[in-house]
Amino acid sequence: MNSYLIRNVSVLGAAPTDLLIRDGVVAETGAGLSAPDATVIDADGLVALPGLVDLHTHLREPGREDAETVETGSRAAALGGYTAVCAMANTSPVADTAGVVEQVWRLGREAGLVDVQPIGAVTVGLAGERLAELGAMAESAARVRIFSDDGHCVADPRLMRRALEYVKAFDGIIAQHAEEPRLTEGAQMHEGEVSTRLGLTGWPAVAEEAIIARDVLLAEHVGSRLHICHVSTAGSVEVLRHAKARGVRVTAEVTPHHLLLTDTRAETYDPVFKVNPPLRTATDIAALRAALVDGVIDIIATDHAPHAVEDKECEWAYARPGMLGLETALSIALDVLGPQWDLIAERMSRTPARIAGLTEHGHDPAPGAPATLTLVDPAARRVIEPAELASRSRNTPYARMTLPGRIVATFLRGEATVLDGKAVK
Ligand SMILES: [Zn+2]
Repeated sequence: MNSYLIRNVSVLGAAPTDLLIRDGVVAETGAGLSAPDATVIDADGLVALPGLVDLHTHLREPGREDAETVETGSRAAALGGYTAVCAMANTSPVADTAGVVEQVWRLGREAGLVDVQPIGAVTVGLAGERLAELGAMAESAARVRIFSDDGHCVADPRLMRRALEYVKAFDGIIAQHAEEPRLTEGAQMHEGEVSTRLGLTGWPAVAEEAIIARDVLLAEHVGSRLHICHVSTAGSVEVLRHAKARGVRVTAEVTPHHLLLTDTRAETYDPVFKVNPPLRTATDIAALRAALVDGVIDIIATDHAPHAVEDKECEWAYARPGMLGLETALSIALDVLGPQWDLIAERMSRTPARIAGLTEHGHDPAPGAPATLTLVDPAARRVIEPAELASRSRNTPYARMTLPGRIVATFLRGEATVLDGKAVK
C-alpha cells in the first residue's frame, strides 16, 4: 500500500497540520512529520473532510450503460469528493432481487473508486403491487439495508405499512419518493404562478406533503425507520419538524439543486431544469436551507440522475426528469452554507454514513481513523463545463456557472482515487 504525507492541511477548518496516511488509516497527525517513504502532498490552503457519502445516486447499470455505468458514476463520485454512494434500484432489470443487488455491488468493488452500496426496490419491478424479496436482498453479499422505489412513490398505504413492518426485523429503512400520483398526473413543473403563466401542468407541493404526513404516521405506528428522499417544499419541512418532535424515526434529505435553483428556470424551456420533484420557489429554498442548518433535514443527497442526450435534449414535455449532481454537490454546499466545515461534514458524510450503516465512512481524519477522506480547495473557483465532467452524461444544470471550491484529492482506505484534481484510474 502507498503512504502519503499530507503537509499543512486544515482538518475541518482547524489550524494547519501534517497528516500521515499509512496502511489504510490516518497513522499520525501533527506539525513537521517526516516519512521518507511517503508521497508528499503539499496541502497549503486545503481543507480535509471525511469522505463524502451520497445516499441517493442513480448509476444506471444494469440497463442504461449509455447514460452511466457503475464505473463512470464511481469516478464522478470520487472527483466530487465522495468515498461511498448508495445506488438506487430503478435500473433495468430493477434491483429487486439478491442477484441484481449483488451484481451492482460487485461492479462497484471492481471499479474500486468508491464503495457502492446498493439500495433494493420495495416492490417487484417498482410496480407498487407486491413486496420485493427484501429479506433475500438484506442477506445477500450486498447486505442491503435501505429499500426504495425511487422514481415512483410507494403509493398504496397498506403496502407501505407492510414494507415498514418487514424491514423492522433487521433495522432496515424504507426511503420514500413522496409523490401522491393522483395529484401529479401529467405534471411538468412546480404548480404555482410560473406554471400558470407558462401553461404547464403543475406538480403541487401538497402531493409531496400529503405522502410525508401519511408515512411519518405509519412509521410511528409501526416503529420503523423511514427516510424521505429529496424534500422540496416548505410545507414538507413543517411536517418533518412535527414528526421529529414526536420522536418518529424519520430522516430526510435535500438535493443541491433544491437548495439553489427555482421554478423560474422553466421559463427557458431548457429540459436540463426538468427534475422530479420539480424546482420550487424562493420561499421553499429558504425553508430548506434553514432546515438543513437546524437539522430537521439531516443530509444533502445528490439524486445524481444521468440521462443520455436523446432522453434529455428534446422538448420539455418529453424530456426525462433528473440532473447530474456528484461532481458539483460540494461546491453547491459551499455556496449555500459557506465554509461551515463541521456542518458540511455532518450533512454530507457523518450522518449519511450513519443512516446507511456504512461504518467505515464518516470518520473525521484523526489518528486511527480510516484514511477515507477528501481534500478541498475552498479558494478555487471553477466554471462548470459539461464536456469536462467524468459522468457519461452531460445534463448538469450548472453549465457555465462559476462555482466555489474544487476537490483536489480523495482517498479510500488509504489509496488515492483522485490526485491533483484528476481520477487516478
Ligand atoms: Zn425520486
